[in-house]
Amino acid sequence: DVRHGTILTLEDISVSFDGFKALNDLNLYIGVGELRCIIGPNGAGKTTLMDVITGKTRPNAGKAWFGETLDLTRMSEVAIAQAGIGRKFQKPTVFEALSVFENLELAQKTDKSVWASLRARLSGEQKDRIDEVLATIKLDVSRHRPAGLLSHGQKQFLEIGMLLMQDPQLLLLDEPVAGMTDAETEFTAELFKHLKGQHSLMVVEHDMGFVGSIADHVTVLHQGHVLAEGSLAEVQADERVIEVYLGR
Ligand code: ADP
Repeated sequence: DVRHGTILTLEDISVSFDGFKALNDLNLYIGVGELRCIIGPNGAGKTTLMDVITGKTRPNAGKAWFGETLDLTRMSEVAIAQAGIGRKFQKPTVFEALSVFENLELAQKTDKSVWASLRARLSGEQKDRIDEVLATIKLDVSRHRPAGLLSHGQKQFLEIGMLLMQDPQLLLLDEPVAGMTDAETEFTAELFKHLKGQHSLMVVEHDMGFVGSIADHVTVLHQGHVLAEGSLAEVQADERVIEVYLGR
């Protein structure tokens, strides 16, 4: 049953690979406008979880709802993306030869081929939206730079901007601050806090300093199951979590 005010409802989700349960009766509820961090040791099922939410992997059992009406287990990957779930993988994938502005322009017009998109004229409204996103990701002064010349962190911000061009309701981000400088990590925290409320965010992250700086609520995965939930301080004080991380 779908809870009111949730952007994502997962109930009793299981995913098996040759009999091995990557997800095992997983239950997860993410509220509208929430910023949730998912942590857990390697192999806990974090990637499989994101694959289920984006339709890349079909669960063997369980229910998955987006908002109160959309059954994610019956939708294609493309339909799920169009419905408003945006995913960012760990490595940035931007068009290096194109400018920052052109990257955002392409992200907005996903219905056309690359060259048709770049030739089509932008409406005033579309231009305004690109300007707004450029300001949000702090790349306004680099708008004409080829994306290939940006720093690693800036490429990550550009890719987040490309996701924002599609107005997603839920953003899934996989280790967003891996490889970033301290300043870039700090800006990412600011950016996520700015985005929450208007969007819901699910962030998979290993950097506990970063998790502590952004999350209201942390979910610890272990062996495909939710081991603990609460504030970072709460889950870090949980005996079961300590055991899993320290192998005691
Ligand atoms: P995490 O992202 O938390 O490191 P994963 O979701 O990648 O965890 O993996 C969870 C478990 O499922 C791991 O033991 C992994 O080896 C296994 N697994 C993931 N994908 C597959 C697959 N396509 N085939 C077989 N086993 C898989």
